[in-house]
Amino acid sequence: EPKTHLMLVATRFAEGDILLFVRNVTDRVQNENMRRDFVGNVSHELRTPLTVITGYLGTMLADTSGLPPPYVRALEQMDGQASRMENLLKDLLWLTRIETTERDAKDEQVDMGALLAELQDEMGNLHPDNPLQLQVECQERIPGDYRELYSAVSNLVINAYKYGGQGKPVIASWRKQGEDYHLAVRDHGRGIDPVHIPRLTERFYRVDDSRSSMTGGTGLGLAIVKHVAMAHGGRLNIESRAGQGSTFTIILPQRT
Ligand code: ADP
Repeated sequence: EPKTHLMLVATRFAEGDILLFVRNVTDRVQNENMRRDFVGNVSHELRTPLTVITGYLGTMLADTSGLPPPYVRALEQMDGQASRMENLLKDLLWLTRIETTERDAKDEQVDMGALLAELQDEMGNLHPDNPLQLQVECQERIPGDYRELYSAVSNLVINAYKYGGQGKPVIASWRKQGEDYHLAVRDHGRGIDPVHIPRLTERFYRVDDSRSSMTGGTGLGLAIVKHVAMAHGGRLNIESRAGQGSTFTIILPQRT
């Protein structure tokens, strides 16, 4: 039995009158669910054949003696592209999971200071000369999903290193701001042109496709961040200045 989804819409006119009406959005919600399930199922089905392909490629690349160099190069290219596809499927499945999970059932009390410290450790191995800087100004735990929040901040921090300019500081902060909590990642890179900002969280949207595809991302990182924020009742705010850097802030409401 399909559920009916209703949306309450309020419009205020210049004269001060307020019109309230209820819109039936069942079709829209059902289409969105179908799209999500389809993407999830396809990603899942593609994983098995891909595992077979990468398995054989691994075996062939383990001993390339006797193979003509152009064959070896072709195998290496295939192996590289197969890993890209693997990352893509991993991100698509993760995004589908975040979009589907029933939130309240699995709320943990997340210690954001500890989460950021773990991420700082992990990033320290990748960028030993430019450690992630932390500013933790709030000690309260918040209800949420540790793995999802970790993947969101980690996507932001990885982007900050990727697009933030070599050796420039990357800062992650956690603080209370009025009625909200702010989890922010700041870089000092080339920044983002304002025309792109509203579209950055769309799946596969990239500012500069040729440059971005060399950095090995999937174009799904910010979509994941936005959905994690939404799943926690919050949102993602993006501020950027050309040539000066960007700040991505996950804004989470305090739940009472
Ligand atoms: P990916 O990094 O895999 O391309 P994302 O969804 O994480 O995908 O980011 C989308 C695009 O937004 C990137 O391709 C890049 O052009 C831009 N972007 C993301 N983070 C930053 C940043 N910190 N500074 C400048 N541009 C960024």
